[in-house]
Amino acid sequence: MKVLVPVKRVIDYNVKVRVKPDQTGVDLANVKMSMNPFDEISVEEAVRMKEAGIATEVVVVSIGPQQAQETIRTALAMGADRGILIKTDAMVEPLAVAKLLAKVAADEKPDLVLLGKQAIDDDSNQTGQMLAALLDWPQGTFAYKIEKDGDALKVTREVDGGLQTVKLQTPAVVTVDLRLNEPRYASLPNIMKAKKKEIAEKSPADYGVDITPRLTVVKVTEPAARSGGVKVEDVAALVAKLKTAGAV
Ligand code: AMP
Repeated sequence: MKVLVPVKRVIDYNVKVRVKPDQTGVDLANVKMSMNPFDEISVEEAVRMKEAGIATEVVVVSIGPQQAQETIRTALAMGADRGILIKTDAMVEPLAVAKLLAKVAADEKPDLVLLGKQAIDDDSNQTGQMLAALLDWPQGTFAYKIEKDGDALKVTREVDGGLQTVKLQTPAVVTVDLRLNEPRYASLPNIMKAKKKEIAEKSPADYGVDITPRLTVVKVTEPAARSGGVKVEDVAALVAKLKTAGAV
């Protein structure tokens, strides 16, 4: 099975995000960037599939600026085989990402595209679903467990209040959730080995995809500051306070 893993370069999850004073977006100047955490989980899963003899090749693809090459290198150091960088400095919305990935899928003919369930910068949770629709492939979102079942895949999904298992014929699109696995840290020898692995460089124009945004960001604001807490003497005082605040 050939597995295609899209990985996005996003603001590191430990960074305290600052909104730009003009409210047009968030400040990216001198901010640490890393692989989207859900994409680390999908890379890990694809590499485990290769180690288990289920996957034959793991190809990672990233759409983003030149620095997204580092994100691809991280995936290669975790065990992926080769990478594709679709270089652009523009903001690429999920629909355009899905269109580009559909073209890559047409070229590469993977049996499985394994994406993160969402990117932690835009929190869209759209790309995998849009890609499945464009390719007309079955999809299993929010994967908690992925198993090979003959020619098909059995995907256990995290749903409200429990788990749901679906069977997908391949080729298929699967998006991964948080509890699927714990991604490994790349070892130094593997980081060195990754430097020799191939990364092909492309542009959105090579795929004939128009990436012009379809949405306008009206404004971006900080979450409202939390008001301070108060200490109460006992339960009776707490109940009285809740009653006067209209909470009960
Ligand atoms: P989103 O729909 O933006 O929340 O992203 C969901 C998933 O789509 C991510 O976890 C990635 O696997 C993939 N993805 C989104 N944007 C990109 C990108 N620029 N490059 C590669 N993969 C992406």
